[in-house]
Amino acid sequence: MPRPIVATIDSAALRHNLSRAKAMAPNARIWAVVKANAYGHGLAVAVQAFDAADGLALIEFDGAAKLRTLGWHKPILMLEGMFDPTDLIPVCELGLDIVVHNEAQIGWLEQAQQSGQLVLATGRKLSIHLKMNSGMNRLGLMPDAYQAAHARLAALPGVGQIVLMTHFANADQAAPPVMPVAQQMQRFAAGCAGLTGLTSLANSGATQLHAECHADWLRPGIMLYGGVSGHGPASELGLLPAMHLSSELISVQQIAAGESVGYASRFVASAPMRIGIVACGYADGYPRHAPTGTPVLVDGVRTRLVGQVSMDMIAVDLEPIPEAQIGSRVTLWGAGLPIDEVAQHANTIGYELMCALAPRVRQVLL
Ligand SMILES: *Cc1c(COP(=O)(O)O)cnc(C)c1O
Repeated sequence: MPRPIVATIDSAALRHNLSRAKAMAPNARIWAVVKANAYGHGLAVAVQAFDAADGLALIEFDGAAKLRTLGWHKPILMLEGMFDPTDLIPVCELGLDIVVHNEAQIGWLEQAQQSGQLVLATGRKLSIHLKMNSGMNRLGLMPDAYQAAHARLAALPGVGQIVLMTHFANADQAAPPVMPVAQQMQRFAAGCAGLTGLTSLANSGATQLHAECHADWLRPGIMLYGGVSGHGPASELGLLPAMHLSSELISVQQIAAGESVGYASRFVASAPMRIGIVACGYADGYPRHAPTGTPVLVDGVRTRLVGQVSMDMIAVDLEPIPEAQIGSRVTLWGAGLPIDEVAQHANTIGYELMCALAPRVRQVLL
């Protein structure tokens, strides 16, 4: 018997969430973001569920190769572009679009052009998203260096269209104390003055909160998986959870008042109580910092985690579910228990929980 922990991936929910993004910005094209193994959901299911997307965007070159093997023939955008000059080989062979975000990358492309290597197997010219640092201060050319970078790329015969791109630090917050979207938009507009071309600005947060930034190409990620960024809940945005993490009780203990549960005896029972042990721990991707009180469903009834999360197990309070026994179904997150709510208890975000789903957890397609 395999361990009872299962991540059920709902491809109809993925499909539905993509249609929600499209409905929010009907005139924009969509890069469905599938980095980090489609936020833990798997590239194979993403390729099918996101077949209505205009392209898929990710970071990992092995992931891009896998998308082609899985039969994705539409555009693929590498969100961090090339990490070194040899990355041009998969770019050309797989026909990838790339982000260019620094001058070293421009130099690599110029060298490749000179040595005759800037030729895509598809026969098309290389499509580039040229990224501006408008205030996020991670990747991108500064606004005053942007035009010169654009000119260097436009001068290369192997380069086709250049999409103007930036990324927001606070698109998911209504009133951030620093670096609001409007400030980044001003810098972006100033840096792009006189340039023509399509633009790509919006992640999930901007897709939902900033219609003025929808531009030509959206880049939604978390919302496609039914999570929220910054504000919520996801259900109010018409989004459906796509990952359901469930398991079973593998032990039930009746303990006396004063008994403690688990490592470090972090939880001490104040009265006699029943404790359920769930086959799910931090080695499955459950957050180790989830404290006593983090919500868990047992047989669909809400209860709480008690004590410290261990590698392969957690303990839950069975007082609200007297009929629970070995084999009772447990929901860690998914339908009835939003991943963002669990994440909040663990002082993290739904993104991290999705991405941390461990390879040892069986994935089942709904
Ligand atoms: C990850 C990523 C996104 C998607 O962000 P979400 O908050 O998940 O919507 C968009 N653009 C870039 C450049 C990214 O790296």
